[in-house]
Formats: sequence, C-alpha cells, structure tokens
Amino acid sequence: MKHGTGRAAAEELDAADPLSELRNAFVCAEPETLYLDGNSLGRLPSGTAGFLERLLVDGWGTGLVRSWEEWIDWSGRLGDRLAAHTLGAAPGEVVVCDSTSVNLYKLAVAALDSRPGRRTVLADADDFPTNRYILQGLAHQRDLRLEALPSDPDHGLDLHVLRRALGQDVALVVLSHVSYRSGALLDMAAVNEAAARAGALVLWDLSHAAGVIPLRLGADGADLAVGSTYKYLNGGPGSPAFLYVRDELQQRLRQPLWGWYGQRDQFRMAEAYDPVDGIDRFLVGTPPVLSLAAVEPALDVVERVPVGLVREKSVRLGELAVELAADWLAPLGFRLASPPEAARRGAHIALAHPEASRICQGLRREEKVICDFRAPDRLRLGPAPLYTRFTDVWDGLAILRDFVRSGRYERLPLAATRVT
Ligand SMILES: *Cc1c(COP(=O)(O)O)cnc(C)c1O
Repeated sequence: MKHGTGRAAAEELDAADPLSELRNAFVCAEPETLYLDGNSLGRLPSGTAGFLERLLVDGWGTGLVRSWEEWIDWSGRLGDRLAAHTLGAAPGEVVVCDSTSVNLYKLAVAALDSRPGRRTVLADADDFPTNRYILQGLAHQRDLRLEALPSDPDHGLDLHVLRRALGQDVALVVLSHVSYRSGALLDMAAVNEAAARAGALVLWDLSHAAGVIPLRLGADGADLAVGSTYKYLNGGPGSPAFLYVRDELQQRLRQPLWGWYGQRDQFRMAEAYDPVDGIDRFLVGTPPVLSLAAVEPALDVVERVPVGLVREKSVRLGELAVELAADWLAPLGFRLASPPEAARRGAHIALAHPEASRICQGLRREEKVICDFRAPDRLRLGPAPLYTRFTDVWDGLAILRDFVRSGRYERLPLAATRVT
C-alpha cells in the first residue's frame, strides 16, 4: 500500500481507523509525547489505578486475609481470559504467574524431562538474551547440547536451517514467535509440524506477539508457550507472565519448582508433593497479587477488539513507518533492519544507523519522541495499535528526520543509562 508521504494521508488513516476510540481507554499524560515503545512497556489503562485502589482499600485494607478466597485462583481466571481472546487456547491451558524468564525455565525443564535420552536443545542464536542465558544455564547444569541456530539479525531464522537441525537427538526447540529486535515473524504452524515430526517439543516465547498477532496455539499445534503481559497487553511494569501447556501434555509434564501452589488440595499441607492434574501444577508460590491484579483491567481493554483487527491496524502502522523511513531516513544513513514484507513482521520495526544510540537518547531528551535502542545499532519503533495514531508515526518520524538532519545528536554526550 502506498500512502504518500504527506501528513494528510496519515490523518485520513486515523479518520478511518476502527480502533481510534480505544486510545481513550489509556492514560496519555503528556499529549505532546510521541510514544513508540509500546512493545517494551504498554501504556497505563485508564481503569487500572481505580481498580488497584479498590483492591488496596477494600480487598487488602478491609478484607484482609479473607480476600484470599477471591485472590487464590486469579492466575487461572486471567489465564482463561488470555487463552480465549488472545492465545487461541482452551480453558485450563493458561495461567498467569512468575516472570517470562522463570516460566521459560520451568517449561524447558519439564519438556526436557519428558524426553529422556535426547540431549539437544535448539535455539535461535539471536534470541532475546534472557532466553539464551536460561538455556545456557540449563545446558550447563544438565550437560545438554545447546545448538544456537544462526539467524539473520534483520530477517530472522530461516526454516530450512531449523529443519536441517531437527535430528533424533533433539528434545526441545525454543523460539520467539516475533524477534525482539528485528520483529521477524516465524511461521508457528510450520515450526510445530516440523518439530513434531522429529519427536521434539517446541517452547514458544510470545512476548512480542501476544496482543498483536492473532494466535491459534491449539489449532497450530503448539505444545508450550510463555510470554509477557506488560508489553502489548499493558499489564504494567513487571506484571506476571503467562504460560501455556497443551492440555494433553499437562499430565505428563512436571516442572522443577515443587511449590505449594501446584499441590493437590493445597491447604491440607500434606507431607509429600503431589501436583494437581491440571495447569495449576505449573504454579509455584503466592502470586504478587497487586501486579497480577493490574492484568485484569488491562485485559478489559484488550478484549474490546478482536486481535485480527489489531493486526490489520498494526500492519498499516508498520507499512507507513517503513514507507516514511524509505523516503526520509534512508538518505540520512538509515537502513530497514526488519523484513520488508508486512506479513513477515510483528508490530515493531528496526532501523539501523551507526549513531542509533545517541539519536535515540536525543529524541527522548530533547524531542519527546520515545522509541528504544537495541544493540548494536538499531533504533526500534513499536507503535502499539491500541493507542498509537497514524499521525503519531508520521510526526515521530518527521521529528526523527529533522533531528538527524540538524546534526544536533552529534553534540550530545552519550549518557551512561542502564536501560536502553
Ligand atoms: C520482554 C521479553 C522477555 C522478558 O522476560 P522477563 O522475565 O519479564 O524479564 C522475555 N523474552 C522475550 C522474547 C522478551 O521480549
């Protein structure tokens, strides 16, 4: 689709946007700030503060320990909502608990234990750091063979590379559905099928997919998945992650942390660990109720619109950004570092530039345009479709263009930030 690079084209897209009303369901505290980093931390839903205040005042303040009656199975209730609307899974296949990193560890160990005799784990050499580190640790602890598959930093993993590596020794394949840096999108059904044929399980990280890519974990034959709730799902900083285990696998899998939340008849306080049959066997201990609770008002917003519509808008936002980048930014030394076809991308795009780090910092500090930097030289733009307008993308890229053209970033000292 060719939009033309005038602002009027972006205004027309906003006027025709069926999701435009949803922006009002979020706090937009500084209207002049252009937020293009929803893939890192989603915006605060308008309903969250009041919901948390009621939980604090009524639930905790008044109800005290009696409120656990209501809190005790919140992980599963939220899991069922995610399963139905966002993940394409069945009730009883998803829970919200722990962090993505911890859930990845739990499910990887459970999967490996179910494939005794096989010692190889396949992963993407360019996957998100926590996934690589967790698997390195596991390989070290259990003397496994971790094979890091070479993948293109712009275009992602080539399925032929994966297929060639899928031998009889492979127990587990761990992959991100959408690459955290480039946004490259993998064909989930094809990967699941190839792995199943080789007798291996696949553990998906859906952190950059959940809420923006229509997922059909059940229909696409997914075995295991984890993912973040604070990115496109807007659960808030550090909100607990979700984990999915296909129904018929649950009984056969055991995770390594034998906590009391997985225990049959938990409050009998029995002597020996005996996990429940269902998805709760993948729980460990007491959930962080306050941050778990924040997922609820977030899902109230997410459920107002089918993910298919979110994806349609997301594709258009991405196409607009790619087109403007080609017209305005390529002459300034930027290169698209994401798959050029929208069908092969998630909701964010990466632009490579040797000074990306300095430009990113300068945009935040001086221009109120918020995107992020990913090493070694990528500017990452994540226009979350629920609250990002086409004019936000247009304005953000116009400001980026003018900022780079002015050369002002060259004079900026690079601040030693811990977080990029
Ligand atoms: C954001 C993200 C995570 C986050 O993991 P935490 O345990 O919440 O820190 C994990 N994996 C991927 C692919 C991510 O993008």
